[in-house]
Amino acid sequence: MARLVMKFGGTSVADLEHIRNVARHVKREIDAGHEVAVVVSAMAGTTNQLVEWCREASVLHDAREYDAVVASGEQVSAGLLAIVLQEMGVTARSWQGWQLPILTDNAHGSAHIVEVNGADLIKRFKERREVAVVAGFQGVHKETGRITTLGRGGSDTSAVAVAAAIHADRCDIYTDVDGVYTTDPRIVPKAHRLEKIAYEEMLEMASLGAKVLQVRSVELAMHKKVRINVRSSFDPPDAPHSVGTLICDEEEIVENQVVTGIAFSKDEAQISIRRVADKPGVAAALFGPLAEANINVDMIVQNISADGRTDITFTVPVADYERAKQVLEKVKSKVGFSALEGAADVVKVSIIGVGMRTHAGVAAKAFKALAERGINIRAISTSEIKISVLIDAAFTELAVRTLHSVYGLDQ
Ligand code: ADP
Ligand code: ASP
Ligand code: MG
Repeated sequence: MARLVMKFGGTSVADLEHIRNVARHVKREIDAGHEVAVVVSAMAGTTNQLVEWCREASVLHDAREYDAVVASGEQVSAGLLAIVLQEMGVTARSWQGWQLPILTDNAHGSAHIVEVNGADLIKRFKERREVAVVAGFQGVHKETGRITTLGRGGSDTSAVAVAAAIHADRCDIYTDVDGVYTTDPRIVPKAHRLEKIAYEEMLEMASLGAKVLQVRSVELAMHKKVRINVRSSFDPPDAPHSVGTLICDEEEIVENQVVTGIAFSKDEAQISIRRVADKPGVAAALFGPLAEANINVDMIVQNISADGRTDITFTVPVADYERAKQVLEKVKSKVGFSALEGAADVVKVSIIGVGMRTHAGVAAKAFKALAERGINIRAISTSEIKISVLIDAAFTELAVRTLHSVYGLDQ
């Protein structure tokens, strides 16, 4: 007997037919004698619709009310799955975030989980063999008693947090692909499923654009040592299990490739400050006000100065692009620069792999391959296990496919 968390995303619970399919997956595990907590997302498209309604109601809406609205999608899918399971003869009940409770801080719209009570679930597994169907994405702020949500894609994080709280043997994340691929299989048909991927690599993949898992879910899994299996809910529920992808410690992976995967993100915008004085304190004068405005700066490039003046290029989240430009215009006279230029039609393409730690020449290979395709690099950033380049968005597919092939990842 094992204790499992099974998480199903929006496309997996898109309508009643899909919910019945999910229930069959759950029943299979119950019939095998396992204890199961299920975490569900809202039905596909629901959260987008709810978010849209909040925006339409008021652009500057109260974040607490936004959470009250958008959390409702998961309430529906959790209730429906419990009904369908009962109909199949499986003892089940739904749990809202505030009922369990899943306690969070009060950062409405992107709250962090502080604590999950797993004791009641375990008691009910033992006493009633009851399946817990937990509404993902939502929690409650203890002090105010208000409903919170965990940021888009947050049901993954709910699943990992519940798995840690009930000491689950496994956290199975069922989605519309049968695992984590070397890159988004929708963009590169030659992408292939990874059998295993290290937490650190998955964290980079997710942070750099692979939205198959929410970044925080991977962080939490790494911290709490939760083993995640990403698999497909579209595999027949009664067939032998597809293998999926295991997210685990680096030591468990025997055959390490130099590059494990390629990710891309259109979430960034570029800002260039032209002809700013090249002297101590200038970077602080530019980036200080951005930090105060809560704007994260990612890639930074500074040119060599010829005449005491230089250009600085950096990226900010696309959602903060206009605000960042306003902040910088305000400090223009104080800092002293000739022009502020920007571009939002850019993409950050990243190459990820723990093997990079011990191999030289990984970056040079990427630069050469992109140059051969006539793709200009606007900015570069690197860390121990990743290399990111900023390029024109028009070249996204070509760049991702080229790099996928150059590092031997094509099937
Ligand atoms: P869910 O609704 O189940 O949470 P998501 O849409 O959040 O599903 O995540 C699954 C999607 O992630 C896939 O359909 C796929 O297009 C996308 N994706 C992006 N990068 C990858 C990758 N490297 N491996 C697998 N899927 C990826
Ligand atoms: N329903 C939420 C969203 O669409 C949470 C999730 O799907 O994980 O972002
Ligand atoms: Mg998701």
